[in-house]
Amino acid sequence: MSKKGILIVVSGFSGSGKGTLMKELLRRHGENYALSISATTRRPRKGEVHGREYFFMTTEEFEKKIAKEELIEYAKYVENYYGTPRDYVEKQLDAGRDVILEIEIQGALKVKEAFPETLLLFVTPPDADELKKRLVGRGTETMEVIECRMKRAAQEAAGMDKYDYLVVNDELGRCAEEMHAIIQAEHSRSFRN
Ligand code: 5GP
Repeated sequence: MSKKGILIVVSGFSGSGKGTLMKELLRRHGENYALSISATTRRPRKGEVHGREYFFMTTEEFEKKIAKEELIEYAKYVENYYGTPRDYVEKQLDAGRDVILEIEIQGALKVKEAFPETLLLFVTPPDADELKKRLVGRGTETMEVIECRMKRAAQEAAGMDKYDYLVVNDELGRCAEEMHAIIQAEHSRSFRN
């Protein structure tokens, strides 16, 4: 029987540095992982490229994807839709590759419900002050949006206990290696093929 890949969900507060962390994980161990690219109705930030960070689309286009069941999950986050395209994820898993979804908590829990063997990882910054510093320092959002994202972070903290592992993003390289080790250990679980 051919081996199926593992579905890995990575969540973390906006500003936890998880995007940079994912890039580091792929730079170090890219041959092991496929990173799913989400669809979103959010406007691109400076430097973001369609098809690389996200598939950027209108609300109408997004709602068509929902209707056609082309998304594994989707959620609204601070006024915008975000969702995971089904096709890519299923193809990669069937080909035996581990697939990483970088998504927020509502979506994470939906994925876990649909695919119970999903590994859930939560990335936290070392402390709350650091979180705000990173959000402000990014300089891409207004203070109003930053406040919304901080509020949302507080709500998400309440759901952290549903995750299998918490990873503290104190130092990029160390943290990337910790995630890689956790995922590799997951392959050895007795219930996996
Ligand atoms: P950002 O606007 O900062 O890129 O993303 C906002 C939040 O949406 C982050 O927590 C990110 O992980 C989450 N997100 C990105 N793509 C998806 C997705 O496909 N589904 C869900 N549920 N959340 C997503």
